[in-house]
Amino acid sequence: MYQHQFTCGTNVPFRLGKIVCIGRNYADHAAELNNPVPDEPLLFIKPATAAVDMTQPIHMPVGRGSCHFEGELSLLIGERLCNANAVEVSPAIAGLGLSLDLTLRDLQATLKKAGHPWEKAKGFDNSCPLSPFVKLDWLPDWDKLSYSLWLNGELRQRGKTEHMLTPILDLVAYISSFFTLEPGDIVLTGTPAGVGELQHGDKLMMQLQDDWLQVETQVA
Ligand code: ZN
Repeated sequence: MYQHQFTCGTNVPFRLGKIVCIGRNYADHAAELNNPVPDEPLLFIKPATAAVDMTQPIHMPVGRGSCHFEGELSLLIGERLCNANAVEVSPAIAGLGLSLDLTLRDLQATLKKAGHPWEKAKGFDNSCPLSPFVKLDWLPDWDKLSYSLWLNGELRQRGKTEHMLTPILDLVAYISSFFTLEPGDIVLTGTPAGVGELQHGDKLMMQLQDDWLQVETQVA
């Protein structure tokens, strides 16, 4: 069973509850899938059963069509947030990590066309590999974070928080106006351009800043 970890080895005293995600938080990614940029944040939830340790091999669903990687910055919530404002959010983020929002793209297209919810394409078992978290004992400059994803050695995604349509603190505040966030919950902050289909044996590497965190994994 999945359990949160800090990179420093300290135990994370919280259990995972839910994973709240945002779609289309980078204009370049919305454009690559021919999606309009929404007026308000587009939210969806992955259940706790979607989470897996990103350092372990990735298992894609069988017979469900294409499975895409979306590299994302993840936030570990450390305090209860309900109708919070951005100032309250900042000290309540306990850790920063990297994640994959695995997406069954063909199934998602079918569901979108029918006007149905996305859960089957986004919240399936093992759909959310999570790295260990960098423990935040200080307040980072939320708009100056960056991360990258390499697929088989090729740089495919580079995300900068300054390019987010809804910045981190505003996003978490907005989420907390619909869904109370509890310690141990995770927020996925959206993916930049460069998503693509995974194949068996693919090797993925992700990095946060230049040297805060590096994680490697492989598709089984
Ligand atoms: Zn995503």
